[in-house]
Amino acid sequence: METTKRLFDDDAYLQEFTATVVSCSEAQDETHKGLYAVILDRTAFFPEEGGQSPDTGRLGDAAVSDVQIKNDVITHYTDRALTAGATVSGKIDWEKRFSNMQQHSGEHIFSGLVYSRFGYHNVGFHLSDHVVSMDFDGVLTAEDVAGIEKAVNGAIYANVPITVSYPTKEEEQKLTYRSKKEIEGQIRLVTVEGYDVCACCAPHVHRTGEIGILKVMSLQNYKKGVRITILCGYRALDAFCTKNAILSSLTGILTTSEEETVTSVARLKDEVRDLKGRCNLLKQELLQKRLSEVPASQEDLIFFEEEIETSVLRHIVNEEVKKRSGFVAGFGGNDASGYAYIAGSAKKDCRDLLMHLQEALGAKGGGKAEMIQGSVPSTKEKITEVFEAAVCS
Ligand SMILES: [Zn+2]
Repeated sequence: METTKRLFDDDAYLQEFTATVVSCSEAQDETHKGLYAVILDRTAFFPEEGGQSPDTGRLGDAAVSDVQIKNDVITHYTDRALTAGATVSGKIDWEKRFSNMQQHSGEHIFSGLVYSRFGYHNVGFHLSDHVVSMDFDGVLTAEDVAGIEKAVNGAIYANVPITVSYPTKEEEQKLTYRSKKEIEGQIRLVTVEGYDVCACCAPHVHRTGEIGILKVMSLQNYKKGVRITILCGYRALDAFCTKNAILSSLTGILTTSEEETVTSVARLKDEVRDLKGRCNLLKQELLQKRLSEVPASQEDLIFFEEEIETSVLRHIVNEEVKKRSGFVAGFGGNDASGYAYIAGSAKKDCRDLLMHLQEALGAKGGGKAEMIQGSVPSTKEKITEVFEAAVCS
């Protein structure tokens, strides 16, 4: 089959074009089920290639949701059929494409600077609608990355040209350029004047100023190097607006200034921790008072508490075991989501109680003769019944 003429190679800014429909058939693969596979003699739609997501847009009245390339033939996936042999007008979703150009050109400058300063290669590039990530085969610190980020923005404000060239084999031998793989046939070089030369098939902005800004969003160790995510241009602006809105809401809720937000949240966390501690102590005292009203002559004791820390439950059980000869069992939780329990005894074997709870109520847990611990998915009423039965057996 004839290869598709790539109009975006010569003009990255071409948004509308006309072409002849070479073929149109129902898509056969599972991913494109219900769509039509349309091949044109030429196209301005950039396919999914080199880690970059494909363009979307329209071909006549049909919506183009995916574009793939195989053996230099580009297939457009549309929601309605087109007539083979007909002339069709195409329009790409420019906002998305221009954003991709901003991200991709920004990535070239970033990777070029990482290569020239540290000698690391970009071994994995991913540009989707949500994420722009680069994997480098060497480790960079946060400080290294901050330096690169600043230098990239310097390149953006210098507003230098980004050009495309097709060197001959002889010219190619004399050139040094970055490339992910050995390329057979004609090579396409993208040059950011003074910053980077890289073999690349994607559309780029004409001048670095159009990238607007590059912001590093995250840095993590990945394989033997690092994975870095970035945002450029409008996407960086969107992210800034989102973060600004979050911060504004937070300063409103905390009634504090932006600068004080972190201190304010840290203080709140400390206060909550202190209050929880005091609350536990009060709960413990209250429970102890309630249980002290049960005469020590009552050998076995069962008690329930809606919300109780395991440490408090254990403390109370231990205290009561000292006073009574039978089982002392404490249950924390409620009928709807079940109970966590701790039971102890000075003289009886707690494993007998565990057996009753397991057999009758499907309790989980384990322990020794002196103490058992676990959970039981049942109600207060049923647990009490089983406890009474275990006490009498
Ligand atoms: Zn590229």
